[in-house]
Amino acid sequence: MGRRLRLPRFVDYSVVVVGGGPAGALAALKLARSGARVLLLTREPSPRAQAAEILSPEGREILERETLWHQIPLDLTWPCPAMAAAWEGPDLVWTSFAQAPSGCAWHIDRPRFDAWMIGRLEAESIPVETGTVDAVQKDAGGWRIEFRAGNTHHSTSSRFLILATGRSSRTIRLGTRRPIDRLCLVATTTDRDPINPDALIVEATADGWWYSAPLLDGRLFAAWMTDFSLVQDGGYAQAAAASLSQTAVHARRVGDARLTTIIGAATWTMTPAAGVGWMAVGDAALARDPISGDGLASALRSACHGADVVAAALAGDTSVWAAAAGYTDAVASRYRRQRLDLYRVAQKRWPTSAFWRRFAAVSDAGR
Ligand SMILES: Cc1cc2nc3c(=O)[nH]c(=O)nc-3n(C[C@H](O)[C@H](O)[C@H](O)COP(=O)(O)OP(=O)(O)OC[C@H]3O[C@@H](n4cnc5c(N)ncnc54)[C@H](O)[C@@H]3O)c2cc1C
Repeated sequence: MGRRLRLPRFVDYSVVVVGGGPAGALAALKLARSGARVLLLTREPSPRAQAAEILSPEGREILERETLWHQIPLDLTWPCPAMAAAWEGPDLVWTSFAQAPSGCAWHIDRPRFDAWMIGRLEAESIPVETGTVDAVQKDAGGWRIEFRAGNTHHSTSSRFLILATGRSSRTIRLGTRRPIDRLCLVATTTDRDPINPDALIVEATADGWWYSAPLLDGRLFAAWMTDFSLVQDGGYAQAAAASLSQTAVHARRVGDARLTTIIGAATWTMTPAAGVGWMAVGDAALARDPISGDGLASALRSACHGADVVAAALAGDTSVWAAAAGYTDAVASRYRRQRLDLYRVAQKRWPTSAFWRRFAAVSDAGR
């Protein structure tokens, strides 16, 4: 991440955005383009295991609307011409994007895409600071934000705050996290699939579901989705191998690669996701199950909404915060209903399975 700004002890920004993933970067960009004085504060990227991710056609449309899509270097995204799922039954059902009016989905190299987005901000002279935010405090004038860069502590201040800290961050608690599940992945990266090299494939099994898709280098990322609490004694690799042996497509696609990488993907909602002077966007407001396939598009959509809310507040509208909380709550309820319907379809195949019973029941509790 680019140059480090020297912040004086108190700097008054109109808006501080915490978190430089797709949601935070887009919210900061939109607000700055509308004339607001914005600072984006984000952690150093961590060298965590990379999951294969797909940008849905809607996500591409949002980036296009924000005049970003055509600037993205060609090697950060590549077309995903088709997806297949064995969900309602054992056979793969293919969805081709060939005739879709909104075009195809796109494989996306997330670490490089995120870095590119930060680069866009810097190219538009929008301040970006690398640091971990430890605490935020509200006072009469707005927000005091405490953050750490290396061993040095800093603070800054702003009128309004956007939280875009994603799924994993727990340090800043403005709303309450309402857990939906404790989803996790047991993953591996293996050789390219010679039969369907570019396809995203999802396959439900008795004890969870599998997905696989290519990474930028052509190798295949494959993962078994389960729940932390359903794997006994930390035996993830053995449990994944046992599950793999029950699959039709992934047993072939993954071959004898060992699945040893554990990635947390627990899902939850933040309630409320906005209050006077602040708003959560992206996964910080609603951490979706990857089965939805639209986490990125939703994060970008939520960032646009968050930027509009804060722009209206900067223009003097004090009613926006309650409306924003209500809006995000409605989005979360709709999402939970859709998720429940999806899981119930597959649950019919394995009515007594602990995984499917738990996921339908957990979703149901949140209706
Ligand atoms: C396994 C898996 C597979 C997925 N696959 C897909 C897919 O195929 N398609 C899809 O559309 N979506 C997918 N998603 C969802 C997608 O990754 C998320 O929806 C998306 O990353 C959300 O973006 P965000 O900007 O809200 O959060 P994030 O991308 O998580 O960004 C949060 C940022 O905040 C920073 N941060 C956190 N805490 C602090 C702090 N205290 N101080 C400073 N900075 C902080 C982080 O370092 C990070 O840069 C998947 C998710 C998972 C877990």
